Amino acid sequence: MLWLALGPVHAMESQVLVIRIKIPNSGAVDWTVHSGPQLLFRDVLDVIGQVLPEATTTAFEYEDEDGDRITVRSDEEMKAMLSYYYSTVMEQQVNGQLIEPLQIFPRACKPPGERNIHGLKVNTRAGPSQHSSPAVSDSLPSNSLKKSSAELKKILANGQMNEQDIRYRDTLGHGNGGTVYKAHHVLSGKILAVKVILLDITLELQKQIMSELEILYKCDSSYIIGFYGAFFVENRISICTEFMDGGSLDVYRKIPEHVLGRIAVAVVKGLTYLWSLKILHRDVKPSNMLVNTRGQVKLCDFGVSTQLVNSIAKTYVGTNAYMAPERISGEQYGIHSDVWSLGISFMEPLQLLQCIVDEDSPVLPVGEFSEPFVHFITQCMRKQPKERPAPEELMGHPFIMQFNDGNATVVSMWVCRALEERRSQQGPP
Ligand code: ATP
Ligand code: MG
Repeated sequence: MLWLALGPVHAMESQVLVIRIKIPNSGAVDWTVHSGPQLLFRDVLDVIGQVLPEATTTAFEYEDEDGDRITVRSDEEMKAMLSYYYSTVMEQQVNGQLIEPLQIFPRACKPPGERNIHGLKVNTRAGPSQHSSPAVSDSLPSNSLKKSSAELKKILANGQMNEQDIRYRDTLGHGNGGTVYKAHHVLSGKILAVKVILLDITLELQKQIMSELEILYKCDSSYIIGFYGAFFVENRISICTEFMDGGSLDVYRKIPEHVLGRIAVAVVKGLTYLWSLKILHRDVKPSNMLVNTRGQVKLCDFGVSTQLVNSIAKTYVGTNAYMAPERISGEQYGIHSDVWSLGISFMEPLQLLQCIVDEDSPVLPVGEFSEPFVHFITQCMRKQPKERPAPEELMGHPFIMQFNDGNATVVSMWVCRALEERRSQQGPP
C-alpha cells in the first residue's frame, strides 16, 4: 500500500488524533487534535490543566504494547510517544480494526503539602476535579489555555526545575565558582539564567545546600533576582534564576550620576530587604548587580547557603577588591561589611587599587561628582565598621532620597542605549 511507504507520521498527518485523558479514579476526557504531529508537550499539559484544574501536572504517561507505563516530560518524549501510537494505528488499520484513541495518564499528583525532592512546597491537590464523570469534548476552547499557562507559571515559581526541561543556549559569563548560561525552559517558555557550579561533595552536603537554598523561595522583592529552582545532577548544581537582558554592571563604563543614583536606590532597597530577612549578601560587587531593558535593577549571588559558600571556597580562596578591610583581616563580618562593598562598588576601578587595609579609604575625585554622592560613598567606606551608615540611614541619605523617585525610564533608556552601542561595535552577527 502506498501510504505505508510514506511512514507512520506522514500517513497520519491528514488524520485527526484523539487523545483520551484518563482521570485518576474516574473516567476520561477525549480531546480531538487536528494537528497531531505538530503537537507540543506544553499543549498537552495545558489541556490536562483544564481537565484537572486543581492538580499540578508536570508529566503524563502512556502504555506500551506490554502495558508498561512510559513517562512523557518533553517534546522529544512526545515525539517518541506519537510515533509509537501511529505505528499501532497502522497495525489496527491493516487488520481492519477500530482505531483506538491515544490514552494518556496525567502523572499521579502528590497529596496536599507533600514536598518534592528539593523540599519545596508544591501546590497539588489530588483527585478528580468537577469533571468526575466521563465526558467527550470535541476540542477545548482556546481562551481557557490562558488559565493553564498561569498554572504553568505557578509550577515554575514553585521551583519544579529539572535538567530535561532546560535547553542551554549562550554562555553569559564565567565567575570563580561556575559558569552562567542563558537557557530556555521548555515547560514555561521562559528564558532563564542558569548558574552551573561543579561541586565534588557528599549527598549529605548536597541535601544541606538544597535545604539552605529554600529561603530563596521566600525572597519576594523587585530588587532581588527571581529564583526558579535548583537541582543537582551528578557533581554539579544548577541554580535557575530570572534572566536580565542588560547583564551585570561591571561591563558598563562611566555610568552618569543621575543613572547611578537610581541604581544605588535599587541596590540599597535590595540589601535592606535581604538584611530584614537576616541574610547578609557577602558578595556585593558590580558583577552581582543586574539590569534589564525595563529599567529594573536586581541583586544576585547573595550568600544564603553557608554550605554552598564553603564548598565553593574550597576550590577558590581569595579576596576581591570589594571586600571590607575587616573581612580581609579575618574579623567578624556583618551588615557594615556589605555597606563597605556597596560604597566601593560605585567607585571607578582605578580608585579601587589604592584600597589596602592599612591605607586611608579611597575617595572620589573632588569636582567630578556631586557633594551628596561623594558624602554617601565616603560614609559607606568608613574604616570603622560601626561608623558606616545603618540600613535606615542609607535609605535616608540625601543622595538616595534625591533619586528615590521610582523613575525606571532613566535606567531603561541608559541600558537600551548601551546595548545598542555594544551591538553596533560588534557589527552584524
Ligand atoms: P564571582 O564568581 O566572583 O561572583 P561573577 O559574578 O562575575 O564573579 P558569575 O556570578 O558566575 O561570576 O556570573 C558570570 C556573569 O554572568 C556575570 O558577570 C553576569 O554578567 C552574568 N549573569 C549572571 N547572572 C545573570 C542573570 N541572571 N542574567 C543575566 N546575566 C547574568
Ligand atoms: Mg556573580
